[in-house]
Amino acid sequence: MRETNGPICYAPLEAQDVAPCWDCGADPIELVHLAEGRHKYAEFLVFDTAIILCDFCRVDFGSYTPGYFGQSHRVHPGKGMTFVRDVLNAQASKDKYCRNCQRRLAFLRFLASVSEGGVATE
Ligand SMILES: [Zn+2]
Ligand SMILES: [Zn+2]
Repeated sequence: MRETNGPICYAPLEAQDVAPCWDCGADPIELVHLAEGRHKYAEFLVFDTAIILCDFCRVDFGSYTPGYFGQSHRVHPGKGMTFVRDVLNAQASKDKYCRNCQRRLAFLRFLASVSEGGVATE
């Protein structure tokens, strides 16, 4: 991982421990939830791009506007989201975090990737 600046806003990134979920994994409380085994994690294909989400963020994914992803249609569990595999033996790992976007690098990379060539409607 060589990026030192966020792919979306180019703010400097900070290394930290993260839970497996790409969406909420940088939240310190999620490391506690991980240790307590509160969430299940799984890999999905969204806009033909892999993303790992916890059970909570998977359900919540429909609250993102399509424009956030540079796409024209909203994604819900069951619509536009393809289950790939469960993440077994979920563990904390290191990722970088953008304080400005309040997201970890894995999610920002996903965002940058799906936004490329996407149809922004907002
Ligand atoms: Zn999550
Ligand atoms: Zn950022």
